[in-house]
Amino acid sequence: MHFAKRLEKIPPYLFAELNRKQNELVTQGVDIINLAVGDPDQPTPNDILQAMHGAIDDASTHNYPPYQGTQEFREAAAKWMEHRFGVTQLNPNTEIVCSIGSKEAIHNTFLAFVEAGDYTLIPDPGYPVYRTATLFAGGEPYMMPLNAENSFLPDLNTIPEAVARRAKLLWINYPNNPTGAIATLEFFEELVAFCKQYDILLCHDHAYSEMAYDGYKPPSVLQVPDAKDVAIEFHSLSKSCNMTGWRVGFVAGNSIGIQGLTQVKSNVDSGIFKAIQRAAIAAYRTSPAELASVVSIYQNRRDIIVQGLQSLGWKITPPKATLYIWVPVPPGYSSTEFVTLLLDKCGILVPPGNGYGAAGEGFFRIALTVPDQRMHEAIRRLKDAGIRYEGVGVRG
Ligand SMILES: *Cc1c(COP(=O)(O)O)cnc(C)c1O
Repeated sequence: MHFAKRLEKIPPYLFAELNRKQNELVTQGVDIINLAVGDPDQPTPNDILQAMHGAIDDASTHNYPPYQGTQEFREAAAKWMEHRFGVTQLNPNTEIVCSIGSKEAIHNTFLAFVEAGDYTLIPDPGYPVYRTATLFAGGEPYMMPLNAENSFLPDLNTIPEAVARRAKLLWINYPNNPTGAIATLEFFEELVAFCKQYDILLCHDHAYSEMAYDGYKPPSVLQVPDAKDVAIEFHSLSKSCNMTGWRVGFVAGNSIGIQGLTQVKSNVDSGIFKAIQRAAIAAYRTSPAELASVVSIYQNRRDIIVQGLQSLGWKITPPKATLYIWVPVPPGYSSTEFVTLLLDKCGILVPPGNGYGAAGEGFFRIALTVPDQRMHEAIRRLKDAGIRYEGVGVRG
């Protein structure tokens, strides 16, 4: 038996070797601090659970749901976009579709718009699905490097004219995984203008729209006037409401983008359990106070890690958003060498930056998804092992 060629093009799982090592250490009884997973460790807020309890006992939720989501769900999503971002006049019938979390919607958007010979413009480092979905669709990924010099924003001026002309999709994700970077509304305006010029569908993955700190409120790309001419935005309750297991979100914006995505989806899946959609409606009505208490837990952990690393010589500033801290490896180390050292010497598991793309070399990512005392413990282990940014006493 042979896999299809398209599957052979998908790169092997980059963290395989690291996982093998982790399992080996666990077998030896080593207490591993896992700072690798972007999966919230807190429970889903209670109002949402209550809505789910009620909905599941109502037999009218038990049959096939509408492909694009229930009318009530799409109206609640439109209302939330208005309350949260001031984005008015989203038509729930043509400009919003319910999604199974956002991963499938991201993948399926490529199937709807990309074919052989097309480019996709993709952030590097970035969420791996943008690249693999391009390959599944037979397109060619053009990587846009995000680095400290460009504040982890793609530099549109460096994209060759010939590539821009053949590009179908441009992907961005702010607040950004894995770099923790944020973007301004002015930058979104530039992107909208660029995508209009080259007739590109601008896709904004807004998975971390609510995971922001110090009072910062990330904007929506749909706040840019006329953004709807070229842009769609992917929202998910996974991170904001501790609902990664529930698989629910929505995509909003340009009606052709929504139509193409819905057409693929209606041939692939059969919608989201209506009880989950009802629980999601409760989530879109969840009080900002309840969300703030979720976010303050992460903000506190962020401060523990940032201050801890600063005390060990790292010159880093606290990210304004996301569940991640993007940390440079000490001079003289590759990303893989340094994360292997952290695992061997400290029992700390973190992904190497190059796992998110070649431009992520020189960094590693810390996820804020373990309790405070484990964060403190991680910093203590670094200190005890003599690991500092300058690398003093580490080598040899
Ligand atoms: C977590 C994440 C997602 C999607 O998660 P879902 O659970 O599928 O909604 C999408 N993009 C980025 C960048 C993420 O980190």
